[in-house]
Amino acid sequence: MVGRPKHLSDLKKIEADVRFTCRRCGFEDDWAPDNLAKHLMVIGGSQVWSEITRHLHCRRVGCGSPELRILPVPYARRPANLPRRVGKLDSQLLATALQILEAAVARSPGRSVAGVEVRLALLVVHRYARDRQLVRDYWECAGDAARNVSEGLSEPYARLRKRLEQLGWIAPHVNLERVHTWPWNSPAPPGWKAPPDYPRQEGE
Ligand SMILES: [Zn+2]
Repeated sequence: MVGRPKHLSDLKKIEADVRFTCRRCGFEDDWAPDNLAKHLMVIGGSQVWSEITRHLHCRRVGCGSPELRILPVPYARRPANLPRRVGKLDSQLLATALQILEAAVARSPGRSVAGVEVRLALLVVHRYARDRQLVRDYWECAGDAARNVSEGLSEPYARLRKRLEQLGWIAPHVNLERVHTWPWNSPAPPGWKAPPDYPRQEGE
């Protein structure tokens, strides 16, 4: 067992990386000491071990909590946020089911989308989420054509996803790099993300 380091540079000696764990959402973030030192330099943070977390926030999208725990993690230990081991068939079943449900959300405003494919997708999700109420919420909402936009399907869908994330069946959406979305109707230059509705043109 390694002792508690005093300074970021001590991690070189004990051959360890730095792991931040968010106290709020549990997201784990591993840094190589060199990269962390550079980052701290840029943001003007201290490299004294007990002060490192002061200027940092959870990097998980939608969290950003400043309450982080810092730990030295010896090389070759478990990788951060190691997802649950999910079989290939399970992950494909779930990915397909979620795709169907997501597509149903997209075309749901103003009409019922409680079709047979949505039902099948919900049955698949139920097998993994084990939460009858969440599935029922989605199904009832999907069958209601009088929904308005604000009480749309996206909310029950988000709760289903969250449940699957909590159970470890799907990986949470983690956006580490701050990538900007290209606002114009033209191919996104390097470093920019294409807008979601932009037609993908491969091989150009
Ligand atoms: Zn967090």
